[in-house]
Amino acid sequence: MSAPFVAVIGIGTMGAPIARNLLRAGAQLSCFDVKREAMAELVEHGATATASPAEAASRAEFVITMLPADEHIRAAVLGPDGVASGIGPGSILIEMSTASPATARELEAALAPAGVQVVDAPVGRGTQAAIDGTLLILASGPRDAVDRCSAVFDPVGERTFYCGEVGAGKTVKLVNNLVFGEIVAAVSEGVTLAVKSGVEPDLVLEVIGNSLAANAVANHIFPERVLPRDFSPKFRLDLESKDLALAQRLAQDNGAPFLLGALTASLFGTAVGRGLGGSDVSRLAELYEQLGDVTIGQRSSDA
Ligand code: NAD
Repeated sequence: MSAPFVAVIGIGTMGAPIARNLLRAGAQLSCFDVKREAMAELVEHGATATASPAEAASRAEFVITMLPADEHIRAAVLGPDGVASGIGPGSILIEMSTASPATARELEAALAPAGVQVVDAPVGRGTQAAIDGTLLILASGPRDAVDRCSAVFDPVGERTFYCGEVGAGKTVKLVNNLVFGEIVAAVSEGVTLAVKSGVEPDLVLEVIGNSLAANAVANHIFPERVLPRDFSPKFRLDLESKDLALAQRLAQDNGAPFLLGALTASLFGTAVGRGLGGSDVSRLAELYEQLGDVTIGQRSSDA
């Protein structure tokens, strides 16, 4: 099978490594980002920078959008010079951002008359997996379209989960990030309690990590980011806050209980309000430090 022509819209933390892995796999690639400088490195590796999403999409068999949130997706796909005005019939829009299921369905309805299928395919895992090409792809949409997308998914992901109709991939992703945010809050609270009670954070993390409470936040994120105070963003706190708000809306729309989720969304919203949104998601621990008047790990000024 010949290498596909792919357009990537949104060359940020996730879009850039995804595009790099596609180039490495031999894809022809056009790209667009509202920040022109974001495309420079890809161009050095053989991509073509374009002036609009429509231009990027015009020759592509697959168009990937990897954007912060619903409003950016609507602007890039349905806005002036958006993907919708450039993409040709028979091509597939692969919407990979974490956004609302309703937006994915809106795109599907808007593009169907032009003969364009939509595959809703947000991703699990983070920046390192995007670099390593080991993302989890949570794909939903018509089976034939999802199958065709393996030409794009194989170089960027380790495993593709078929989730159902368009929107289901976004739902699965929001559930995943709801649970992730709850775990970040739970570990922050537990470690704060330990330190307030005179127990070393490393000790309590090691015990959690070897018990039935083990999880990636206690096993990796706290020892690797919170204790050494490395809050450079791998996954930004404000993006997690956005995901919790989307999960809350999904719960309201479907009449699902959202109790721990509401508390967690409120904690993350408070952290964003205190100016922590541009840092790594693990900086939620600092909110607990402020609330508990305690220090977990090294203070920034000690580093
Ligand atoms: P990012 O902010 O680093 O990158 C987004 C890029 O989109 C930026 O370069 C921005 O300039 C560009 N952009 C914004 N509006 C645009 C428009 N209208 N047209 C073209 N480009 C536009 O964000 P990210 O971390 O790459 O996240 C992207 C999506 O992936 C988000 O929905 C996020 O929740 C999700 N996600 C992120 C991670 C992670 O670890 N960072 C993991 C899984 C999923």
